[in-house]
Amino acid sequence: MTEQPITMFARGLALGELYQGLRLNSMALLEAIRQGAITDADIPGLRDRHDHWEAEFRRIRDEEPQNIAATLHQLMDSAIRWHQANDKQARKVRCSEGCAHCCKLHTGITEAEGVLLRIIAARKGIHIDRARLARQAGVRLRNWHELDAPDRRCVFLGADDRCKVYAHRPMACRKYFVTSKPSACSTDDGINSQVTVFVAWNAEIVYSAAVSVFGLGGMADMLFPPPAEADLT
Ligand code: SF4
Repeated sequence: MTEQPITMFARGLALGELYQGLRLNSMALLEAIRQGAITDADIPGLRDRHDHWEAEFRRIRDEEPQNIAATLHQLMDSAIRWHQANDKQARKVRCSEGCAHCCKLHTGITEAEGVLLRIIAARKGIHIDRARLARQAGVRLRNWHELDAPDRRCVFLGADDRCKVYAHRPMACRKYFVTSKPSACSTDDGINSQVTVFVAWNAEIVYSAAVSVFGLGGMADMLFPPPAEADLT
């Protein structure tokens, strides 16, 4: 991997895009390849890791969803810690506690994470604004900024701009780091600005493999998915 800043817009995700046999469910990885920070020589190693994690996730697919989500979060945190200890680029991250600009962006989660969030909300008595979720449902990354500003706020973001489910936040929230000005992530002006991100590629590989096995949807769609047909009969 080369030390190169990766710029990106918060736009659509190319789920499952293939690059030399590597399934890319991570927009950050895709941009890192497009912009030359990840080179062709890096791909076989990444593909091996991806295959490894996919096999592991297929093995645990039938476990309780909340346990699957907790496992994904542990793996994600451990991959990020590796970068923090070994990757000079990680020192350039400018995200800080209390900054909540990215909590007003579209967030993709797995169904297992949706189950975990519902359990935590019920356990902690966290009110989930179903009316706001209904307005967020079906709105994609590419047109997220068209929602009214209050409707862009994550339903778990408190009035004090702190995450009410921080220890259980989804993978997408754990791995998003910017090296540009944090305020550039803001969508308050209705504009999708360009940001420079730190790509924790070890974490992105875990994420991409998890999405391959468990799928992904907008938080609004995954928190309260419609019941499966079999449950209605
Ligand atoms: S779950 Fe927490 S960290 Fe993630 S977007 Fe919502 S408020 Fe922010």
